Amino acid sequence: MKKALSKKNLWDKTPPLLKSTLGRGLGLFPSRWLLGSSFRENCRFIRDAQWWPAELAREYQSNKLREILKLAYEKTRFYRRSFDSIGFHPDDLHSLEDMNQLRTIDKQVIIENLSDMCTKSVMVRDVEYGATAGTSGVPLRFYMNADRSEMEYSCLVASWERTGYELGMPMAVLRGRVVQPDRNGLRHEYDPILRHHYYSSFHMSDENMVRYLEHIATIGPCFLHVYPSTVTALARFMIRNDRQAPKNIQGIIAESEVVYPKQRRMVEEVFRCRLFSCYGQSEKVVLAAGCEKSDDYHVWPTYGYFELLDEDGNPVTTSGQRGEIVGTGFINAVMPFIRYRTGDWATYIGDCCEACGRGHTIIRDIRGHRTQEMLIATDGSEISWAALNMHDDTFIHVRQFQFMQEMPGQAVLRIVPANSFGDEDSRRIHHNLGRKLNGRLTFTIKLVEAIPLSARGKAIYVDQRIQRGKSVSLDSAGDV
Ligand SMILES: [Zn+2]
Repeated sequence: MKKALSKKNLWDKTPPLLKSTLGRGLGLFPSRWLLGSSFRENCRFIRDAQWWPAELAREYQSNKLREILKLAYEKTRFYRRSFDSIGFHPDDLHSLEDMNQLRTIDKQVIIENLSDMCTKSVMVRDVEYGATAGTSGVPLRFYMNADRSEMEYSCLVASWERTGYELGMPMAVLRGRVVQPDRNGLRHEYDPILRHHYYSSFHMSDENMVRYLEHIATIGPCFLHVYPSTVTALARFMIRNDRQAPKNIQGIIAESEVVYPKQRRMVEEVFRCRLFSCYGQSEKVVLAAGCEKSDDYHVWPTYGYFELLDEDGNPVTTSGQRGEIVGTGFINAVMPFIRYRTGDWATYIGDCCEACGRGHTIIRDIRGHRTQEMLIATDGSEISWAALNMHDDTFIHVRQFQFMQEMPGQAVLRIVPANSFGDEDSRRIHHNLGRKLNGRLTFTIKLVEAIPLSARGKAIYVDQRIQRGKSVSLDSAGDV
């Protein structure tokens, strides 16, 4: 991946040994100071923005939209063509509702028009490119400005502060970073500037999890920064072995995958602290962060313009109704994403949170809408993987599992067993899952030594090999 020479990238690339030597001195200063004055200014601005009254947020968003539409119209061939085709000029944007006139775009549009969507040459130092999973297995590539990290990190820090996190507190990070063993054989790396302790989420064996937990217990009051799947694996391991959570863990920040309600409850019970989550995408168009007083998410007004559209493309305005998250990002000036359909769906709750008093859009139950997360029943209907994710004792002696499907109505459940896995576990899994599946799908269990994670170390719950068009509906009846 092309990486620009930003301060953050240089630090990321510094070898671990040099980093810890350099950092021994630097670590004495607060991280806030080391990350620069514009970062501190951004943090202050973002912190204030979450309490803006709705009217101020709308005004800020209108100005930002005019800026990004103007840039897109003047500097890119794609948006000039697109706006001209409907007779729209950026000066025509008088209110947020005027955005409805513009066409939405999706991953396919970007794949087909990439070179026409950039506002400047991408061969310069301050541009980097990102990638994410696209449609039908084709990865989506795009460009963004390297200095966006500062704004992005400010938003994340301001979000995490809702849980009691303060910049400079140690974080135990289990999030897909490749971590080599240290001289004691522990897969651990330390970044003294950010005070992050990285552990390998690719090596979650029982033996390693014991060592991770023992090490975390020594790093002082800290937060866990994890994927929901990694913290669930830790929690299941602790239940299985009747282990207590280290008492110094103040909270859990679990991001980048869907958090299911029962999963949240189990993790919070085992760790005896709160699980907090933010929602965002690699394309960086919308950021929503958990509320400290409820399990809902609040959309950040300063990160992008958020819309929720139903299947016919109309705005969702009724509480409880679901829609697709569509975003216009404010922080990427290299390749504007305007009315970009993320492929993620959420339930609209309202525009003012009674629990905390913030006056921004509230959403709940955010789900990726990808075929990979679906199993196909005998009659061709879809079964959400969420419906089968058991958080009781069904998978208690299972380290990792994944469905593999090649034919509708049939699947293989691959299981990496824990040491204590036996026939009784197979029987319980068949019985408990069978009750949920209700004859729509049958499966066989196959014990395996390992299940590969995605390139970024996230769990892939369904290895779906049936080629289908766009998925059409979520089976929410089995929501867990
Ligand atoms: Zn709230």
